[in-house]
Amino acid sequence: MTTRAVQFKPDANIVPCPQCGNKTHFVIHSAQVAEDYCELWASCHCGHQPAPEHAFEDVWGGVNDDNVQIVMSCWNDAFSPA
Ligand SMILES: [Zn+2]
Repeated sequence: MTTRAVQFKPDANIVPCPQCGNKTHFVIHSAQVAEDYCELWASCHCGHQPAPEHAFEDVWGGVNDDNVQIVMSCWNDAFSPA
């Protein structure tokens, strides 16, 4: 499993963590879940993370900047108020 700590500006378009209110410090996780794809997701620095169905599936699972953006949009989808 690969992880990458990321930090965003306070005015970034990120839904605050429902547990602690953090919206700037996250860890991006990438785990190979099958032979031919990986799942990526974000966790808050408090450890809170979205349900597995909000993970992003990617063939290579890299934690490059493009995938970080996608993973954070998955975070937003998971925690934005209905
Ligand atoms: Zn949190």
